[in-house]
Amino acid sequence: MKGSFSTYLSDFVSLFYPNLCLGCDELLPKGSEYLCPKCHYNLPKTHTHRLEVPQFKEKFEGVVAVRDVLVYAHFFKKGLIQKVLHQLKYGNQPGIGEMIGRRYGKELLESGYADAYDLIVPVPLHEKRFKERGYNQSEHFGLGLSKALGIPMNVDSLVKVKHVGSQTKRSKLSRIVNVDGVFKVLDNSFYEKRVLLVDDLMTTGSTLVACLEVLRECKPEFMGIATIGGAK
Ligand SMILES: [Zn+2]
Repeated sequence: MKGSFSTYLSDFVSLFYPNLCLGCDELLPKGSEYLCPKCHYNLPKTHTHRLEVPQFKEKFEGVVAVRDVLVYAHFFKKGLIQKVLHQLKYGNQPGIGEMIGRRYGKELLESGYADAYDLIVPVPLHEKRFKERGYNQSEHFGLGLSKALGIPMNVDSLVKVKHVGSQTKRSKLSRIVNVDGVFKVLDNSFYEKRVLLVDDLMTTGSTLVACLEVLRECKPEFMGIATIGGAK
């Protein structure tokens, strides 16, 4: 329980001291948002845009064809990315997503991704969940990527039509069964387009697969994935 208590504590503290680093709780230097330069430097980055990292790509092998599986950093239990994603999702701090998106987008830009995709598409939330949270965390990550890469974002065409509840306590198999028929595409925006699907976290990859399978029906030129965190 110690971990969850310290999470509550940092949620509480951040209400009053928004200028503390999410990683080390030190005061942020001028010009830094959410993470101090040292914590940023210490993020366990995957470098999937420059290196072969099979642990992420193999989640999709034989299931659905993807050009790139881009993961900003490794997700470890009680690690820095878990802390960051918790604040992004539950701490009413969508700006974290945009900040990471901009940083990651800059790195991708330097590796030649400026013209690699036509559209950025965030994994949508169900309307009910969107109303509860007030924002879609994946959309804010997508927004940062979109600004850094100069690639437009489409938030209207892919929608979540079925509310499946929390996925966190389900087994791997039931998660896969559960995402069937959950997403839907409303128009022909993705036809012959190079589509980059973005989400905050990749665990089993089942949510991403469910979206990709629906997008594939629209005959895109090809598809790729980008997430903030990736779990083994
Ligand atoms: Zn720090």
